[in-house]
Amino acid sequence: RAHLDRIAEIDGDINAFLHVGAEQALDAARAADKSIAEGTAGPLAGVPVALKDVFTTTDAPTTCGSKILEGYISPYDSTVTKKLREAGMPILGKTNMDEFAMGSSTENSAYGPTRNPHDTTKTPGGSGGGSAAALASFQAPLAIGTDTGGSIRQPAALTGTVGVKPTYGGVSRYGLVACASSLDQGGPCGRTVLDTALLHEAIGGHDPRDSTSLDAAVPGVVAAAREGARGDLAGVRIGVVDEFDLSTGAQPGVREQFNAALTRLEELGAEIVNVSCPNFQHATSAYYLILPSEVSSNLARFDAMRYGLRVDDDGEHSAEQVMAATRDAGFGPEVKRRIIIGTYALSAGYYDAYYGSAQKVRTLIARDFDAAYDKVDVLVSPATPSTAFGLGEKIDDPLSMYLFDLFTLPLNLAGHCGMSLPAGLAPDTGLPVGLQIMAPPQADDRLYKVGAAFE
Ligand code: GLN
Repeated sequence: RAHLDRIAEIDGDINAFLHVGAEQALDAARAADKSIAEGTAGPLAGVPVALKDVFTTTDAPTTCGSKILEGYISPYDSTVTKKLREAGMPILGKTNMDEFAMGSSTENSAYGPTRNPHDTTKTPGGSGGGSAAALASFQAPLAIGTDTGGSIRQPAALTGTVGVKPTYGGVSRYGLVACASSLDQGGPCGRTVLDTALLHEAIGGHDPRDSTSLDAAVPGVVAAAREGARGDLAGVRIGVVDEFDLSTGAQPGVREQFNAALTRLEELGAEIVNVSCPNFQHATSAYYLILPSEVSSNLARFDAMRYGLRVDDDGEHSAEQVMAATRDAGFGPEVKRRIIIGTYALSAGYYDAYYGSAQKVRTLIARDFDAAYDKVDVLVSPATPSTAFGLGEKIDDPLSMYLFDLFTLPLNLAGHCGMSLPAGLAPDTGLPVGLQIMAPPQADDRLYKVGAAFE
C-alpha cells in the first residue's frame, strides 16, 4: 500500500507506469501475508515489483509503449509474469518503455516520456526508463526490464540503480513481445546488488516453452552476491577494453568516476589488465543492421487482423488497405524507420552485403570476447558515455541516439551477461554514473560477486 501511495503521489511527475493494478497487487500482498504466516513463503513473497510493459499479463493491458496495442489484453501470462506470481510478488503495474523496446531515452513511447527522478528535465535512458525510474523514485523496490542492446543497463546507469542483462537464454522469452529475438533478454532491476540477485533467481531458469532457453540451472547469483559483499576480490582479474576510447568518447565526469572505480576495484584486491577487442568498434553498425532486420520480420504480426488497433475497417477498404492504414496510424516514427531499414537490409541483392556482413562481425565480436576472457574473469567499462541527457536533446537525431549505446551493445551480440551498478555522481553534472561489468555466458555469478564487492 505504501508503494501504491507513493505512485499516486509522484508518478504524475515521473510517468514510470502505463498501468497500475492496485487491486490485484493488494490481493497478491494478502495472499503473500498468508503464505508467510503459514511458513510456506519464498524470500520475495510480498515484495512488490514493477513489470516492463512488454511482458504479457492476463489481468492488465500489454501495450509495449505502442498505440498499435492500446488496450490489448493477452490471453496468457509470460513465464516471467508467472514466476513473479509464483514467488508471491505483488505486481504493482506495467512500466513505460520506448515503443517495442526501440530507443535509448523512453521518448519513443506513444504514451509520453518517462522523466529522470534525479532531474526531471532529463531522460532516464531507454528503452526501460519506466522500470529504472520507478526504482529511483521509490515507487517500487524491484522491477523487471529487457535488454536487447542495453535497455536494462543503460537506464540503470542514468538513474543510479542496478540492472542485469542475464546470459542469453537465462530468463525465458515466452510471453516477452519480440523486438529482436536473437538479442532480447529479460532481466532483474533493483537498488542493490543483492536485491537484484534475489529477483534474478526468481525469474531465471529453463523453460520448455522457449526454444532458446538454456537447459541449465540459474548460476548461484545470490550466493555470489553474499560472497562479494565480504569485499575481497583477491585473485580476480578485471579487464579494461583498449578500444573503448574514453579520452575522446566519454564525458570527463564519467571518465573520472570510472577511473575512481578502477582504483577501488584494485583496493579490493582485483588485478586490472588491459585487453584488446578490435572488433568492438563495429558493434554499433552491426547491431543497427541485425536488430532492424529482426524487427522487420517480428513486427509483421501487427497486421490489423490479429491484435489491437484496426483502422479503416468500414467494408469499403481492402484487407491490404486496412493493414497499411493501421500500421501507419499505430506505429511511431522510430519503429517505422527500423522496419524500413530492416526490410531493405534483408532484400534480395542486399542480404549478403548488409545482414550477412553484420552476422560475420557478430562472430568476430564473440571471438574478441573469448580472447579477452582467456586473460580475465570479467571486463569493465562505463555503462554509458555520458550521464543523463536532456529530454528532446537527441530525439531528432537517431544516429546520436544509436551512438549512445556503444558500450552496452557488444555483449548482446555475443549473448553474454552484464550489469550496471552505481559508481557515484559525475563531478561535472552531478548525475549518476554507471559502472558496467561484463562476464562470459553462464558466468552471471561473477557480475554479482564483483558488483557486491564494489557496491
Ligand atoms: N537502445 C537500443 C535500441 O534502441 C537498445 C534497446 C533495447 O535494449 N531494447 O535498440
